Amino acid sequence: MNDCLFCKIIAGEIPSTKIYEDDKIFIFADIAPTAPVHWLAIPKTHIASLKEVTADNSEVIAHIYEVAAKLAAEHDEFKDGFRVVTNCGESAGQSVFHLHFHILAGRAFAWPAG
Ligand code: 5GP
Ligand code: ZN
Repeated sequence: MNDCLFCKIIAGEIPSTKIYEDDKIFIFADIAPTAPVHWLAIPKTHIASLKEVTADNSEVIAHIYEVAAKLAAEHDEFKDGFRVVTNCGESAGQSVFHLHFHILAGRAFAWPAG
């Protein structure tokens, strides 16, 4: 999608700090981190939000979780626990409408979420 911020990050049109990339997904550092580790994991195909996930495109989500587990095992900040979360819709806090999973680590996280 031409005017999507995260599609532009994937294309390299907007700079980002890359953490991981393969043919299906891209993981980069959040520009305004809320934890010592705050990454965003996104599918390379444009999916607006979790609402748009179907049997035809859901495979990439399992892949994101699989890579998140691998990265967690490789980084010390994850050893005591970490959080992976997606905000769906404006009232849940979604501000960029390209599906993304926040990967957060390096501090304790409260529950329930605010
Ligand atoms: P949301 O609020 O949609 O759940 O999360 C969007 C996230 O994207 C926010 O945490 C915000 O800081 C991050 N973000 C917004 N614009 C940019 C950008 O240009 N570069 C990077 N790396 N992160 C961004
Ligand atoms: Zn997009």
